[in-house]
Parts: sequence; C-alpha cells; structure tokens
Amino acid sequence: MNEYKLPSAKEARFRNKAYQVPIVYNSVSLSESQKQLGVGFKYHVATYGCQANVRDGEVISGILENMGYTFTGELKDADIIILNTCAIRENAEKRILGTIGYLKSFKRLNPNMVIGLCGCIPQQEQMVKMIIEKYPVVELIFGTHNITALPNLLENVINTKKRKVEVFSTLGSIYEDLPSVRQFKHKAFVNIMDGCDKFCTYCIVPYTRGQQRSRKLEDILNEVNSLKDKGYKEITLLGQNVNAYGKDLSEGYTFGDLLEKVSDTGFKRIRFTTSHPWDFDDKMIDIVASRKNIMPFIHLPLQSGNDDILKLMNRRYTAKEYKELFDKIKTKIKDVAISTDIIVGFPNETEEQFLDTLEMVEYCKYDNAYSFVFSAREATPAARMEDSISIEEKKKRLQRLNERLGYYSKLNNKKWEGKIVEVLVDGYSKTNPNIMSGYTPQQKLVNFSYDKAEIGDIIYVKITQGMKNSLNGIQVHFEKEEYE
Ligand code: SF4
Repeated sequence: MNEYKLPSAKEARFRNKAYQVPIVYNSVSLSESQKQLGVGFKYHVATYGCQANVRDGEVISGILENMGYTFTGELKDADIIILNTCAIRENAEKRILGTIGYLKSFKRLNPNMVIGLCGCIPQQEQMVKMIIEKYPVVELIFGTHNITALPNLLENVINTKKRKVEVFSTLGSIYEDLPSVRQFKHKAFVNIMDGCDKFCTYCIVPYTRGQQRSRKLEDILNEVNSLKDKGYKEITLLGQNVNAYGKDLSEGYTFGDLLEKVSDTGFKRIRFTTSHPWDFDDKMIDIVASRKNIMPFIHLPLQSGNDDILKLMNRRYTAKEYKELFDKIKTKIKDVAISTDIIVGFPNETEEQFLDTLEMVEYCKYDNAYSFVFSAREATPAARMEDSISIEEKKKRLQRLNERLGYYSKLNNKKWEGKIVEVLVDGYSKTNPNIMSGYTPQQKLVNFSYDKAEIGDIIYVKITQGMKNSLNGIQVHFEKEEYE
C-alpha cells in the first residue's frame, strides 16, 4: 500500500475557515504525448449518483476527448472505462462493486483495457483499501479533488502497466476552464460551489468533497453567458448546499445576489439544487418569486419531521421552522412545486418520531419526494450510533411513508389536468416515437403527443392526465402572450 496515495478520514474531517482557496485557471493542459495517447482508442464513463457527479462525468469525458479518445456506449468495446462513483448509500456502493465484477470478463478479452474508479467511493479510506485488495482489475483510482490529474495518471498506468492510486483528502481547490462534453445540447449543469461544511451526522459528502468552496461570481457568469451564446435553454446551478453560496468569499455575495445576476443574463430557464432549509433567506424567495426565468420549483430536504431526530442529524432547524419556511415559499412563489428528501429509520427512531415525519408529509403534501432507509456511512457520527430498530421495521415504515408520498404526488399532478403548460422538450419516448417528453417549469415530467416539436424547443402542452410520477398531454399551439 505504501506506493499509493490513500485518503484519510481524519484529514477529510478537518476544516479551516481562514483557508485561501486556490483557484486554478486553464486547469488541464496536456503534453504532446498526452494529446495523442487516446487516438484510435475508445472510452466509456459510467456516472452514478447526484448531479455534481454528472457534471464531473462531463469533465472527465472532456479530458479524455482532448486526449484523442472517442466515446463508445458499449463497455466491451472501450479501451478505458471510468466508473465515476457515488457513496451516498450502501446500495449505490454495492451496485458499483457488482459492475466491477462484471467488467472482469471484458478485461480478459482486452488485457490493455484500463478500468478506473473515481468519485466519492475512493474518498473513503476503508473502501479504497478494500478495493485495492479485492479488485486488482481496477488499475487507476483517483478522487474528487484531482480529476484534472487524469491525463498524468492515465499516461502513467498505460506506460508502466502498473496500478496507480492517488486520492487526496484536502480542503480542495476551484478548477476553472475545464474541458467538458455536456450530456445535453439544450440544458446544462453549472457548478457554483463544491464541498459542504454542514456535517449532517448521516452524510458522507463533507468527507468526500471537502470544505465549502464557492466559485467567483464573475467566473460563474462567464460560463452562464457562454452557454446562453451556444443556445442552451436551461441551466441548473449546482451545489451541495446552494444557499450557503458566497459565505466563504470575502466579497459578501449571497446566493440571492447570484440568482439575481444569473437571471439578469436573460437565460430562458434557471433552476438550482440543492437548497438547505437552514439558511434559506427571504432574498432567495423574493428573487424566485419575482423573476419569470427562475423556475418555480424548490427542493427542500426535510429528512425528518421530529425535532429530536433533526437534532441528532445536526440539521439545525426544527419542524416548526421548516413549516414556516415551507408556508412562506408556498405563499410567495406562484404555482411553486416543492420536493423533498426523507430518511426513515435513523438510529433509534421511535414509532412516535416516525409519525411526526408522516404528519409533516400530510401538512406539506409534497409534489415529489426521495425517501430512503437510513444507511450508515463510514466515518460519519451516525454510523457510530447504537440502533435498536430492525431493518424489517425500517422497511415497513418506508412503505407506509411512500404510500402517502405517492398519494400526494398523484393528487398534485391531477390538479394540472385540463391546463396548458410550457414544456422544454427533452427527447422521444423509448417505446413510442409518436410521444415526446419534457419538463414543465415545476419540474413535472410530461409525456405528450406532438405534431411539431424538436428536442430543445419550448412548446405548449395541454395536460390530459395526471399520474403519480408524470403527466400526459397533447401539444397545442399558442402565442406566448395568450399563455401568460
Ligand atoms: S447539507 Fe447536504 S451535503 Fe451537506 S452534510 Fe447535510 S445532507 Fe450532506
């Protein structure tokens, strides 16, 4: 193990408020040999998990294409496969380990194939040691802090035929001017920050992504304007906790200020994720309420409706404060849709505490929700808590919760029946070429029959049916003024 640079849980926990975050411009420059390394070879990047990982996957693809590699959708045809991993729950990890097992047969057929692992799994000390020991087929391991080192690492593995492991547990840097192959031509993710300092006790993210680092406002605006010039219709501003944007900058910007400036660019559709109920200020709500190009959709993670559990989770708000914020958002932002995240079965959660969460669901009647059974994550405080609740009981609670979440999701979708909505067209149905799909401003998935629509168009659809997870409709033709 000595020849490898491994992550350290102790270093990952460290924070320094006085830290001057290095900003690296032109962050990936290639040597002549690196520009030729991939010519005639194919790559595949498999990304798991959140939008931050999707964005990292786009950057990894951009780096590989600059090195001459071309994309293949077939794993078996790839000369380099990068698994861009997620560690948020144990299930996600198991899935990725299963994929590595499956890739062994391809490696046997093509011994020169390089299988690489990056993202959040390698940022965990014990996981990376286990992978080194049990999965020799993985020859390249790097972390979330050194994606820009990929050309050097890959060249080293190919030239030496030796495994390379380089994972840092640092506070982190900001990388600008990253090469990128964007997933879509009509909508794009824009990172506004990385890392998180909230340390919710169940969450691995502060350990895998480092200290909170906000990008400079002008660098974000440059990226937004360049996407607008390229014809993109929608951007999603990304961060682990977007409302904390700017708190680590000396300029005194807030997320509300950033939203205002991004809205001023005239971009057609602006979204953001994820927001934390703790520092969701009035300016944010007022800007979303007053700007037509900021979409009326808020993801507001609840996690639990019980104050004692919220405290154990280190969420820094009470159920009452959450309700007040929820009501304020609902009152001020016209036609807003709100989604949430909920964890059931946090260590020692009692039936009564779970009922508080159910009661909150009855109160908020969410449009959409992501609900999970608690999953203990290495090095987090919650993983060390005693737990008397059986997994069977937790699964039953999840079922009860999902039944109510599904009920409200459908109820909310039914309210759209008969209405005309604006839809950004995303693509064709996999099973029926006469059906296209897209998203409304409220982030509702709509499947619709069409007569004149292209991917990336913003069109109008009359909703004919609201279901639990989506809406059905038919394209209609409307002047924008009539719609408004
Ligand atoms: S705010 Fe979000 S990313 Fe940060 S620790 Fe809490 S759950 Fe994790």
